[in-house]
Amino acid sequence: MSKLTIALVAHDHKKQELLAWVKQHIKTLNQCDLVATGTTGGLIANETGLDIKRYKSGPLGGDQQIGALIAENKLDALFFFWDPLNAAPHDPDVRALLRLCSVWNVPVACNASTADLVITSPLFLSPDYKPYKPNF
Ligand code: PGA
Repeated sequence: MSKLTIALVAHDHKKQELLAWVKQHIKTLNQCDLVATGTTGGLIANETGLDIKRYKSGPLGGDQQIGALIAENKLDALFFFWDPLNAAPHDPDVRALLRLCSVWNVPVACNASTADLVITSPLFLSPDYKPYKPNF
Protein backbone atom coordinates (compact mmCIF):
# COMPACT_ATOMS: atom_id res chain seq x y z
CA MET A 1 0.00 0.00 0.00
CA SER A 2 1.35 3.43 -0.85
CA LYS A 3 1.95 5.85 1.99
CA LEU A 4 -0.27 8.81 2.69
CA THR A 5 1.21 12.18 1.81
CA ILE A 6 0.63 14.66 4.59
CA ALA A 7 1.39 18.39 4.61
CA LEU A 8 2.40 20.33 7.73
CA VAL A 9 2.16 24.13 7.81
CA ALA A 10 2.18 26.53 10.75
CA HIS A 11 2.30 30.27 10.96
CA ASP A 12 5.04 31.71 13.15
CA HIS A 13 3.03 32.03 16.36
CA LYS A 14 1.70 28.50 15.88
CA LYS A 15 4.94 26.67 15.07
CA GLN A 16 5.65 25.51 18.62
CA GLU A 17 2.10 24.21 18.93
CA LEU A 18 2.45 22.23 15.71
CA LEU A 19 5.86 20.93 16.80
CA ALA A 20 4.39 19.68 20.10
CA TRP A 21 1.53 18.07 18.18
CA VAL A 22 3.93 16.36 15.77
CA LYS A 23 5.95 14.94 18.68
CA GLN A 24 2.73 13.59 20.18
CA HIS A 25 1.78 11.80 16.95
CA ILE A 26 5.22 10.96 15.64
CA LYS A 27 4.55 7.21 15.35
CA THR A 28 1.70 7.79 12.92
CA LEU A 29 3.49 10.57 11.05
CA ASN A 30 6.50 8.28 10.62
CA GLN A 31 4.32 6.05 8.47
CA CYS A 32 3.52 8.92 6.08
CA ASP A 33 5.37 10.88 3.44
CA LEU A 34 5.66 14.36 4.90
CA VAL A 35 5.82 17.69 3.12
CA ALA A 36 5.84 21.17 4.62
CA THR A 37 6.38 24.82 3.93
CA GLY A 38 10.01 25.84 4.30
CA THR A 39 10.36 27.20 7.80
CA THR A 40 7.84 24.84 9.36
CA GLY A 41 9.51 21.86 7.71
CA GLY A 42 12.99 22.96 8.80
CA LEU A 43 11.95 23.38 12.42
CA ILE A 44 10.12 20.05 12.61
CA ALA A 45 12.86 18.11 10.83
CA ASN A 46 15.54 19.58 13.13
CA GLU A 47 13.58 18.93 16.29
CA THR A 48 12.26 15.46 15.50
CA GLY A 49 14.54 13.93 12.87
CA LEU A 50 11.54 13.28 10.63
CA ASP A 51 12.23 13.20 6.91
CA ILE A 52 10.25 16.08 5.41
CA LYS A 53 10.18 17.40 1.87
CA ARG A 54 10.36 21.15 2.23
CA TYR A 55 8.78 23.57 -0.19
CA LYS A 56 9.34 27.31 -0.22
CA SER A 57 8.46 29.37 2.81
CA GLY A 58 4.73 30.16 2.91
CA PRO A 59 5.02 33.87 2.09
CA LEU A 60 7.33 33.02 -0.84
CA GLY A 61 4.95 30.55 -2.48
CA GLY A 62 5.09 27.44 -0.30
CA ASP A 63 1.36 27.48 0.37
CA GLN A 64 0.75 27.60 -3.36
CA GLN A 65 3.12 24.69 -3.95
CA ILE A 66 1.12 22.62 -1.47
CA GLY A 67 -2.05 23.82 -3.19
CA ALA A 68 -0.63 22.48 -6.45
CA LEU A 69 -0.22 19.04 -4.84
CA ILE A 70 -3.90 19.14 -3.90
CA ALA A 71 -4.94 20.11 -7.44
CA GLU A 72 -2.88 17.19 -8.75
CA ASN A 73 -4.50 14.76 -6.30
CA LYS A 74 -1.16 14.15 -4.57
CA LEU A 75 -2.05 15.20 -1.03
CA ASP A 76 -4.05 13.13 1.46
CA ALA A 77 -4.37 15.56 4.38
CA LEU A 78 -3.27 19.01 5.50
CA PHE A 79 -2.45 20.00 9.06
CA PHE A 80 -2.43 23.77 8.87
CA PHE A 81 -2.10 25.65 12.16
CA TRP A 82 -2.83 29.14 10.88
CA ASP A 83 -2.75 32.15 13.12
CA PRO A 84 -6.12 33.83 13.65
CA LEU A 85 -4.65 36.70 15.69
CA ASN A 86 -2.04 38.17 13.37
CA ALA A 87 -2.28 39.42 9.80
CA ALA A 88 -0.19 37.53 7.24
CA PRO A 89 1.18 39.16 4.09
CA HIS A 90 0.23 36.05 2.15
CA ASP A 91 -3.34 35.83 3.37
CA PRO A 92 -4.64 35.34 -0.20
CA ASP A 93 -2.43 32.24 -0.48
CA VAL A 94 -3.68 30.93 2.86
CA ARG A 95 -7.28 31.35 1.75
CA ALA A 96 -6.50 29.71 -1.59
CA LEU A 97 -4.96 26.70 0.13
CA LEU A 98 -7.95 26.23 2.41
CA ARG A 99 -10.28 26.70 -0.52
CA LEU A 100 -8.57 23.94 -2.52
CA CYS A 101 -9.02 21.53 0.40
CA SER A 102 -12.75 22.09 0.07
CA VAL A 103 -12.70 21.89 -3.72
CA TRP A 104 -10.88 18.54 -3.67
CA ASN A 105 -12.31 17.11 -0.44
CA VAL A 106 -8.94 16.95 1.29
CA PRO A 107 -9.12 16.70 5.09
CA VAL A 108 -7.69 19.82 6.72
CA ALA A 109 -7.13 20.39 10.42
CA CYS A 110 -6.55 23.98 11.50
CA ASN A 111 -6.03 23.47 15.22
CA ALA A 112 -4.58 20.85 17.54
CA SER A 113 -7.90 19.42 18.71
CA THR A 114 -9.14 18.78 15.20
CA ALA A 115 -5.72 17.46 14.24
CA ASP A 116 -5.87 14.99 17.16
CA LEU A 117 -9.23 13.71 16.00
CA VAL A 118 -8.18 13.38 12.37
CA ILE A 119 -4.91 11.58 12.98
CA THR A 120 -6.36 9.18 15.56
CA SER A 121 -9.31 8.25 13.38
CA PRO A 122 -9.31 4.54 12.50
CA LEU A 123 -9.88 5.69 8.94
CA PHE A 124 -6.68 7.70 8.82
CA LEU A 125 -4.28 4.87 7.95
CA SER A 126 -6.92 2.42 6.80
CA PRO A 127 -6.22 1.08 3.30
CA ASP A 128 -9.95 0.49 2.97
CA TYR A 129 -10.87 4.14 3.37
CA LYS A 130 -11.27 5.75 -0.03
CA PRO A 131 -12.43 9.34 0.37
CA TYR A 132 -14.74 10.73 -2.26
CA LYS A 133 -12.82 12.50 -5.01
CA PRO A 134 -14.76 14.90 -7.17
CA ASN A 135 -14.58 14.13 -10.84
CA PHE A 136 -14.30 17.55 -12.49
P1 PGA B 1 6.70 28.78 6.75
O1 PGA B 1 5.36 29.13 6.01
O2 PGA B 1 6.62 27.38 7.19
O3 PGA B 1 7.80 28.99 5.74
O4 PGA B 1 6.81 29.75 7.90
C1 PGA B 1 4.13 28.91 6.64
C2 PGA B 1 3.15 29.94 6.20
O5 PGA B 1 3.33 31.09 6.60
O6 PGA B 1 2.21 29.64 5.45
